[in-house]
Formats: sequence, structure tokens, C-alpha cells
Amino acid sequence: MLKKIGTTHIQTHHRASCHCGAVVLEIHLPDGIPSPHRCDCSFCKRKGAIVAAVHESDLKVIRGEAAIVRYQFGKRVAEHFFCGNCGIYTHHRRSTNPLEFGFNIGCLEGINPYDLDDVPVADGSPWSSP
Ligand SMILES: [Zn+2]
Repeated sequence: MLKKIGTTHIQTHHRASCHCGAVVLEIHLPDGIPSPHRCDCSFCKRKGAIVAAVHESDLKVIRGEAAIVRYQFGKRVAEHFFCGNCGIYTHHRRSTNPLEFGFNIGCLEGINPYDLDDVPVADGSPWSSP
């Protein structure tokens, strides 16, 4: 668990936001950020975000529910969420565990995701569309 990225400490209830600020999330991270990673599936390789995951009950949309746009592909288990105004990916319901949300570490307030070293890449081949 990562308690800090760069010089920023992860808060127990850390906020995350899209670029324009329409969408704001609050993510419960009492033990820090679990397992930051990238994914090389056909969708994530285009998006390029560093993500981590929490139980669905630990992520709340506290502003901008109406601004959120959803995208699905393939087996349509995962739900990928974006701000419909600025286009930034904020979070997604995971294929690997639909009871979990993945979230964009770059959206966490005060966090520079490029302060992370050696981010592993998960094998996304099971979810890649042709
Ligand atoms: Zn936005």
C-alpha cells in the first residue's frame, strides 16, 4: 500500500476530480493506494492512465453524477466512466471483479502519477476487443 506519492500523503478520504471539475469523487483509502498499475488491453493502452482499485463501497461520486458518460465494449461487464464535458476518465467498474472500481490515479488531488516508479503493466489480453 502506498501511503504517499511524491511528497503528497494519501488521505483517508482522498478526493479525485476530472479536469474541468464537474466530476468529483471521494475515495476511501485508509491504508493508502493498493497496487498501482497500467493495463495493456485494447482500451487502456489508448487511455494510458495509471490505475488502482477499491471495493465499490469505497468510491463515491460526490459531484457531477449527471456529467458522467459511460462506455462499454466486448462482454460489457466493465463500465468505463468519463466526464462528458472534459473527456477525462475518472473511474471504471472492473471486469476482473465487478464489485470493485478502478480509478485514475492522475485524478487524485495533489498527486503527480509520474512520481511513481516502476508501474507494472497488467495483461489486458482477456479484455481486448478485436
Ligand atoms: Zn470534466
